[in-house]
Amino acid sequence: MLHQIKGLHHVTSLASSAQENNAFFTNVLGLRRVKKTVNFDAPDVYHLYYGDEVGTPGTVMTYFPFPRAARGRRGVGEVGTTYFSIPKGTSAAWVERLKTFETPNIATDTRFGAARVLFDGPDGDRFALVESDDTRAPWTGNGVGADMAIRGFQGADIRLRDAGATAELLRFMGYQEVDKAGAVTRFAMPGGNGADVIDVETLHAVNPASQGAGSVHHIAFAVENRARQLEVREALKDTGWQVTPVIDRDYFWAIYFRTPGGVLFEVATNEPGFDRDEDTAHLGQALKLPSQHEHLRARLEKLLEPITD
Ligand code: ZN
Repeated sequence: MLHQIKGLHHVTSLASSAQENNAFFTNVLGLRRVKKTVNFDAPDVYHLYYGDEVGTPGTVMTYFPFPRAARGRRGVGEVGTTYFSIPKGTSAAWVERLKTFETPNIATDTRFGAARVLFDGPDGDRFALVESDDTRAPWTGNGVGADMAIRGFQGADIRLRDAGATAELLRFMGYQEVDKAGAVTRFAMPGGNGADVIDVETLHAVNPASQGAGSVHHIAFAVENRARQLEVREALKDTGWQVTPVIDRDYFWAIYFRTPGGVLFEVATNEPGFDRDEDTAHLGQALKLPSQHEHLRARLEKLLEPITD
């Protein structure tokens, strides 16, 4: 069993409008945009990152916005709901806030003993704000006060037709089964970074998801540094997983592998972080391009949808 993984690093999803996406995560949810860059593999598409003040691993929601993209179809083989943690007793205030912004499909429930607020993002992306004792410092620069601000991810749920192999993989990655309710098994990472929960939901009679705007593209798990990442890569390979080589994403190093149920997993390093090319006070403001795409800057600045804050 691995001991290097410390919870989630980031969650990456697909969107349609960059402007709407940015407005939702900054103005409505109160997160900070910590990086405005492009998809390194398809540089005519933005890669937008939202998180706490510095984009601490375990807080970072990221998007590839494709203008006019069709919505994804929900199903199995994907991340269904991404969970953010909020302070205890703030659900009602969040419901009011979300209503003010006409957020779609707001609902409340209790799962595994915690009050939750469920709602959809601008492209039908499904989110939950989960009440918890979470001591991580929130970003409060966008008008959501520390009394209710999002602390980071709590975790995510994975929807699968057959959960067996993925449950086994999560145990191998260091997760422990901690609870069960109906078709949902809860896994948690002991000693993690706060974004420690993965729920695995088994849905036998649901069709496979089809990716589009609002779908989660992949979820990334955090390791401290490149040495820990290489240990994880070797261990996964030794267990028979097809893992990519280490890829430089400028703000972290990444490896990817496809899980048995179809969900794409990444393992990303906490180093070097989002302040490697911008100072903390100005994170996320300028369009940052990786060196291999810097020669495209003039074309990309014309092509990419303008984002007004
Ligand atoms: Zn990623």
